[in-house]
Formats: sequence, structure tokens, C-alpha cells
Amino acid sequence: MRTLKLDEDSSKLANEVIGDLKASPSLELFKCIQCGMCASLCPGARYSDYNPREMVKRVLDGDESVVFDDDIWNCFYCYTCHSVCPANNSASVVNQILRQKAINEGEKIEKISSFLTYGDSFRDIGIGSIPSAFFDILVSDFGSDWLDLKINLDGVRKDLGLGPVTLPDDSIEEINEILNITGFTKRMEKIRRS
Ligand code: SF4
Ligand code: SF4
Repeated sequence: MRTLKLDEDSSKLANEVIGDLKASPSLELFKCIQCGMCASLCPGARYSDYNPREMVKRVLDGDESVVFDDDIWNCFYCYTCHSVCPANNSASVVNQILRQKAINEGEKIEKISSFLTYGDSFRDIGIGSIPSAFFDILVSDFGSDWLDLKINLDGVRKDLGLGPVTLPDDSIEEINEILNITGFTKRMEKIRRS
């Protein structure tokens, strides 16, 4: 059962995190023992100044500045920390909620604006797709074959006996309804205007 510390000012940020819609009822943020397992296996921590153990400590200390720290954007949600935490906490989920708080405050928009086309793809065809802004990087990492596959995907699928990747209209409508109800669409508009 989740431990709550409702009366202490220093717990305000932590209580906001565990009260967030993204936090599952089983998230045990207050049970973090600062063992550092998350940081020891975190690829983001290995290659940058980001440290999930330290991020969680700042949340538990009520340090609101962690919300606006650039380093927390070096997590890429591999969930390794989530799977190894002995306290059933999840630095990954905590990170997502902190970033969301920053975006809601109109900060760090530049960190996600290049992903807008990913959201557009969900809205238009009900399936996410790699944002075009990353195509050049992918070609440099994987070679031009990657782009050829992307351009000729329907043909390749046909050769394999598969149809095009499409969803029925009513499924796309349902997905759009979910995007609207959860505030995703509104947030996309807000980011686009920023
Ligand atoms: S979040 Fe989990 S793995 Fe990370 S320091 Fe706390 S208890 Fe350890
Ligand atoms: S989800 Fe983020 S914090 Fe957790 S191990 Fe992966 S990169 Fe690190």
C-alpha cells in the first residue's frame, strides 16, 4: 500500500507526483531507499549528468527546481530503473511526471516540439510514426536503406503478403476521442502555439 505524507510542506512535490494520473497506485515513491540501483544501470546517467537517484531525492526533498532541470530530459524511458527498483518506485514514471509539469508551466517546450508530427500521426492515422525531423539522423546512423524502406514500406509489405498499415475509420475516431478526453490534443495545440 502506498505511503502518504500529507502534512509536510517538503512532501508537496512528492505528493503531487504520486497524485498524478500517470502514477500507478502501486508507485512507492516515499519508499525510495536511495540505493542507487536505478542510477547504476541507467544509460542516460552513464552518458550525461542526469542521475535518477538524485532526481528522486530532490523530489522527496521538495526541491521544485528539479522540474525545470535540463538534465531530466536525458532519460529516454527505457524503464530499466523501473524494473530493478527494490522499493517498487519508478524513476522513469517520476521523470515523466516532472517533465509534464514543466510543459504545463510552458517551460522546456523546445524539448518536445520536434515530436509534434508523432502526435499528428496518431491523430490522423491512429498510429505513431517517426517524426520527419529525425529522418536525417536515422539515415546517418542506419544508412540510406532505412529511408528506402520507409518510402517503399507498402511495396515491401505487399511482397511479404501483408496489407498497408492502416486502421479502420471508427478506430481512428475512437483514438481521437481518447486524445481529446486525456487533454493530449489540447496540449499539442498549446505546444504548436508556443
Ligand atoms: S528509486 Fe528505487 S532504485 Fe532508485 S534509488 Fe530509490 S529505491 Fe533505489
Ligand atoms: S527510464 Fe530513464 S531513468 Fe530509468 S533507466 Fe531508463 S534512461 Fe534511466
